[in-house]
Amino acid sequence: MTELVSIRKAIDYEDSLPEAIDNVLRDLGGIERFVKKGDIVALKPNLLVFSSPSKAIVTNPHFTFEVFKKVLEAGGKPFVIDSPGSGIPFTKRSLNSLYRLTGYSEVFKDYPDCLNLDTSKKMVDIENGLILKSVNILKPLLDADVIINLPKMKTHSLTFISGAVKNMYGSVPGMEKTRYHSRFKDVHDFSRALLDVSNVTKPNLTLMDGILSLEGDGPAMRGVPRKTEIILGSKDPLSMDFAICKLIGLEYKEIPYLKVAIDNNISDGTYNLKGDIPSIDNFVLPRTYHGKLSLDPVSLYNYFVFPIFSNFLIEKPKVIKQKCIRCGICVRSCPEKIITMDKISAKIDYSKCIKCYCCHEQCPEGAIDLKRIIL
Ligand code: SF4
Ligand code: SF4
Repeated sequence: MTELVSIRKAIDYEDSLPEAIDNVLRDLGGIERFVKKGDIVALKPNLLVFSSPSKAIVTNPHFTFEVFKKVLEAGGKPFVIDSPGSGIPFTKRSLNSLYRLTGYSEVFKDYPDCLNLDTSKKMVDIENGLILKSVNILKPLLDADVIINLPKMKTHSLTFISGAVKNMYGSVPGMEKTRYHSRFKDVHDFSRALLDVSNVTKPNLTLMDGILSLEGDGPAMRGVPRKTEIILGSKDPLSMDFAICKLIGLEYKEIPYLKVAIDNNISDGTYNLKGDIPSIDNFVLPRTYHGKLSLDPVSLYNYFVFPIFSNFLIEKPKVIKQKCIRCGICVRSCPEKIITMDKISAKIDYSKCIKCYCCHEQCPEGAIDLKRIIL
């Protein structure tokens, strides 16, 4: 079935946001279509790292709070839940720091008990999964009556976009996320795992924060905030990601998990757009993205020459020694356990690097760049 994707303009997180959310929800049939009186509603933002909302890495707390209020008005019982990236221990203490440093504690100061601190998990069997037979998921999320997915519009160095489907990967608790990078080194296999997790959690509604987005080398400190001034809504996370591709000028075939979804008949790639469709020009993609096929020389090089030498030329994580504060987060986040600490900075054993970019994603100082290093 072709799902609707609603897009509305919102120029800031203050005056224009409530009306934009109202309009998106109205386009989708109203909040009552998704939330009934008494429903326990899990709101799942992207809280990847300890980072201020101004850096556009996390879903803005004002965006989440606006949705929280809509759920309350509908008679639901909302709470906020996420598991941060693999470099951060998944403990009550870390979650408290996460809420504080991402601005959630302040914005939700009248509802402190609605910020989840329960770190329990539940193993879910997956019948007919693309690659997973079972997976651990945050228990409070699974126990909720309704899940509302609240992704941030961002680029991603591994999957090129970090959209609605990718956001649900945060439902896998803590450092367990890194295991799948290690198990599924090929990005298409990893994409199958992403789709399995999104499918098992089945968010009822997805609302995306694209007011201040992240372009360039996302999804974290090496990305650059960009005002795109939109919010999006859909029942279907895949439809939303197809729409995002179109908006920023990407072919879905270039996004590994969207291609896998089409190839496996999970989606036919169609969707209906409604609302204020913006033009987003020159959205900067991660440097790991090597372009689409056309007849220009750069594209032909990327398609035909680059793959032959990709083992030498593919971007590798490179520690910027002057920026490294030796915090050890990259050491914890590396699924292959190949990052060590010397007296000056973190150090990578490139011979075993699988280029998953978890270290680049998790470094709080933006001290891990991506470079084509010939070794
Ligand atoms: S590169 Fe340095 S600053 Fe960045 S996560 Fe590793 S140890 Fe911390
Ligand atoms: S060093 Fe390589 S394998 Fe380890 S996290 Fe970074 S990119 Fe992944």
